[in-house]
Amino acid sequence: MRRSIATVSLSGTLRQKLEAIAAARFDGIELFEPDFIGHRDTPEGLRALCDDLGLAIELFQPFRDFEGLPDDALRRALDRAERKFDLMQRLGASLMLVCSNVSPLALPEPERAAAQLRELAERAARRNLRVGFEALAWGRHVRLWRQAWRIVELADHPHLGLVLDSFHSLSLDDDPAGIAALPGARIFFVQMADAPRLRLDVIDWARHHRNFPGQGQLDVVGFFEQAVRAGYDGPLSLEIFNDVFRETPNRRIAVDAMRSLLWLESEVRERLQAAGDAAARRALATRLLFAPPPLPDFAGWSFVEFAVDAETGRALGALLQRMGFVRAGRHRSKAVSLYRQGHIRLVVNEGAHTAARQRFEAYGPSVCALALRSADAAAARNRAVALQSARFDPPVGPGEVALPSVIAPGGLILHFVVDALGDDGLFDNDFVAEPLEAAADAADAGLRRIDHVGLALAPDRVDTWVLFCRAVLGLEAGDSLKLADPFGLLRSFGMADAARRLRLLLSVSLSARTRMAQAVGAGGGAVVQQLAFASDDIVASVRALRAAGVRFVAVPPNYHDDLASRVDLDPALLQGLREHDVMFDRDAGGDYLHAVTEAFADRIAFEIVQRIGAYDGYGVANAPVRLAALADARPA
Ligand code: MG
Repeated sequence: MRRSIATVSLSGTLRQKLEAIAAARFDGIELFEPDFIGHRDTPEGLRALCDDLGLAIELFQPFRDFEGLPDDALRRALDRAERKFDLMQRLGASLMLVCSNVSPLALPEPERAAAQLRELAERAARRNLRVGFEALAWGRHVRLWRQAWRIVELADHPHLGLVLDSFHSLSLDDDPAGIAALPGARIFFVQMADAPRLRLDVIDWARHHRNFPGQGQLDVVGFFEQAVRAGYDGPLSLEIFNDVFRETPNRRIAVDAMRSLLWLESEVRERLQAAGDAAARRALATRLLFAPPPLPDFAGWSFVEFAVDAETGRALGALLQRMGFVRAGRHRSKAVSLYRQGHIRLVVNEGAHTAARQRFEAYGPSVCALALRSADAAAARNRAVALQSARFDPPVGPGEVALPSVIAPGGLILHFVVDALGDDGLFDNDFVAEPLEAAADAADAGLRRIDHVGLALAPDRVDTWVLFCRAVLGLEAGDSLKLADPFGLLRSFGMADAARRLRLLLSVSLSARTRMAQAVGAGGGAVVQQLAFASDDIVASVRALRAAGVRFVAVPPNYHDDLASRVDLDPALLQGLREHDVMFDRDAGGDYLHAVTEAFADRIAFEIVQRIGAYDGYGVANAPVRLAALADARPA
């Protein structure tokens, strides 16, 4: 499969864009004409630059407002096209994109449009160029792919074909079923874009909010499957207009772009394999679609690792012991301690020369690594690497276990642990048991397992993480909620696997003034801000933790008064929630009880949660209460 991306999708000058695109190992580009107009070099110079970088100019775009013109306007449009054909020949670009006419001059006459495009194709043919016709979602008379195809079919010229754009079709709920029945050779180009579902005017939606396949909510897999079934064998290309991408370092965005195409190909390949009909078999036999190692089965969290120094390590250890964790062992060769309670394993790393230390220096005491349990840890790492994640290979001491690991977006380390090792198998080897300091350990507080990990992201990391979670970990995004922090807006949404063994709560600050934005830091990144532990009896757990001196964020009485007015709760339970600063949420599946500790080192909070029934959220609706309480306790 040739992979391509439109230059409009990235930030930077044209040269910088091309270098980033080449570094991400694309085969070609769609040259967006305004990028060329702002470029200093001649067409021949640009062509040489692309050649040097190994990039083909697959498409020259856009040529606007052509089809359906009155006769006198047509002559001028054809002259304009000839000048662009001159330019394309100098660039070495053989395909021009004509998008459907938005001009009020355009006439609603498919036969006229077909005759005019036929004339354009004939002129292109004289120079051995080709023309592709695309339906813009806001075209004056041509908006749907079927309308564009009808005109291409009527024109009936070998140098004229159809350009498909997933955004223009899916944004109008224009059904792609039927594309599979088109003659594949007449589809000249396929542009892919995803997007979040927004209630916006389609032009604003298209020009500011498209994102890469796997980052949004459109059925891009089903769309591309149709083109593959038709026998399309041109490039798979991305055309993304996105305000955040335009201001994000282009090397990062180019990696996301490539990851999105690899994911899209592998998803379509799996669908075709599952369908197994004759057309699917033919498509699989003729198209090489990317095949990463299959998605492994994740069994939940193995451990979470904190980067600290000696002083904060002591403080964190003391807090964990108050929370009922047992200091279970010390690493044989490193300044690393293991804490455990129920199925939860926490690793506190004071290492002086490690990735943990780099994290500590950048962010202070914080989570530096997350470890996932997987039936096949090496396959999980290999899939992540195949999907453009960097391997992480730390130095391993003699006799120590080397964990397959990658670097997640923003620098968090992700380890994969063989599930068969159980809770402690991994640590039996590298850790020596601590003689139990019975006096230092509080009683077990009933914390059973990690419920979810809360990640705070810089705004330009959100789409990256959604795609990473979906492609590498097989997680799907839940509903997104906007919330008020006392100093600005936040957006939060969960990502979880189908079995709900792996849950991440992603949050992004939409304002630079929130505490979260300050925590994520001006450098941008991904910071674990919350670790949620599940209890089977939250009131008992919180009571035990408070008795041991753990401090919780105070929930104002107004909250519980309001709760009593909204929800019919058992009075004894309500009293327990009130006394212990426990918040409540309910969805169609069940109830959620949760309480949040004061943040450790002003950075990471622990949350105690209890899910009752099939509650599937994270109590996000209560976040404004917690954030306001925090702001009251510690004015900004
Ligand atoms: Mg397009």
